[in-house]
Amino acid sequence: MSVTALLAVSGVRKAFQKPDGGEHLVLDGVDLRLDEGQIVGLLGRSGSGKSTLLRLIAGLSQPSAGRLAYLGKPIEGPPAGVAMVFQSFAIFPWLTVYQNVALGLEAQRLPHAEIRKRSLAAIDMIGLDGFESAYPRELSGGMRQRIGFARALVVHPNILLMDEPFSALDVLTAETLRTDFLDLWCEGRMPIKGVILVTHNIEEAVLMCDRILVFGSNPGRILNEIEVKLPQPRDRLDPSFRELVERIYVEMTARPVAGAAGGRAERFPGTGIGTVLTHVSSNLLSGLLERVAAPPFNGVADLPKIASDLQMEIDELFPVAETLQMMRFAEVEGGDIRLMDIGLAFAHATLDERKRMFLRQLLNYIPLAAHIRRVLDERASHKAPKSRFSDELEDFMSEEAAAQTLRAIVSWGRYAEAFAYDNENAVFSLENPS
Ligand code: ADP
Ligand code: MG
Repeated sequence: MSVTALLAVSGVRKAFQKPDGGEHLVLDGVDLRLDEGQIVGLLGRSGSGKSTLLRLIAGLSQPSAGRLAYLGKPIEGPPAGVAMVFQSFAIFPWLTVYQNVALGLEAQRLPHAEIRKRSLAAIDMIGLDGFESAYPRELSGGMRQRIGFARALVVHPNILLMDEPFSALDVLTAETLRTDFLDLWCEGRMPIKGVILVTHNIEEAVLMCDRILVFGSNPGRILNEIEVKLPQPRDRLDPSFRELVERIYVEMTARPVAGAAGGRAERFPGTGIGTVLTHVSSNLLSGLLERVAAPPFNGVADLPKIASDLQMEIDELFPVAETLQMMRFAEVEGGDIRLMDIGLAFAHATLDERKRMFLRQLLNYIPLAAHIRRVLDERASHKAPKSRFSDELEDFMSEEAAAQTLRAIVSWGRYAEAFAYDNENAVFSLENPS
């Protein structure tokens, strides 16, 4: 192409040193190009290396191999024309909105009048007009997140990097902020030329991006690139919108090919044994299934509504919903949870039937469970020490994440009677299971 890309990433690999001297490969063979006028989405499960890639682009970290160029020049430190917005943004409670935004310009030695002009313009544009002298505590979560956007935009970056900027907000606030952002972008009112948006939310990617790079895990790499040709503003209910969401959803939740089991090169993201699991008790899982199955929800519910119904924080509810999604008891999309047939059946089943259903979903959709079960089946003793699996997991994730993942698998494995686990001796076995 004749025009220089805003950003060109080629053959990027990133490995972190592990305490034992080995390396943890997080990104491998990543290529990406961002041209002027585009929003490119990086979509993938948690742990697939999206934030790591963003930090490389922001010049905050160096690749182990490969090249990154901003406007044709190698990225060696934070480039002046690249700014970032995070999920939980560092706002200073003792500074006013104006001061928090102007902070973005601190590094550039600009005349005072210029700082003032630009900061007020950014505040105005992002919808914080009138709140210049307010303190963050006087604002709602959505307004506070707007400060983050304003601080990034005030530097007039060529590239805006966004790392899950809407994911800490409630559903309605997030949607308002997305829509406002898209309006400004489509009207060309933002002082930016291109955007990279990291998200694990398929609908958000389809709503906002011109191109979506679907990430796989272990190691993180780009599995597929999808062009979204739907005109803006996009309608979530439009059949072609739904179709695209469904296609990506299927792609991201497809299971590893039979026969490849046990191998490390899993073909699909979020399905490898390297997926970090969150410990959610079977009580919580069945509790949520029951509640969504019952009236007035009858199988589909708005997550925030369900949260208040169960007197839970939405942040507490998310891991429960995500686990149900991972096991294909339910789908979580656009702030709704929708039970699959098996989820509805579970809610109305007896305890024994529930255990059988849980066992099936666990072994089918949580590869680590299937892996542990297979190892135990194959060994004459039907026993294996926990270290057998934690060592393996630590090739993919931190020690802490591995411990948390094993806690989750032990609890689900026990409930489903897939295997037993002896806490005292740290040994998995097939002691009582079917
Ligand atoms: P995502 O943003 O897609 O959720 P991340 O890029 O945050 O994923 O993390 C990908 C993997 O890289 C994780 O397994 C994480 O533990 C690991 N990782 C990230 N940063 C570091 C680091 N500084 N040192 C070691 N491992 C890291
Ligand atoms: Mg991340």
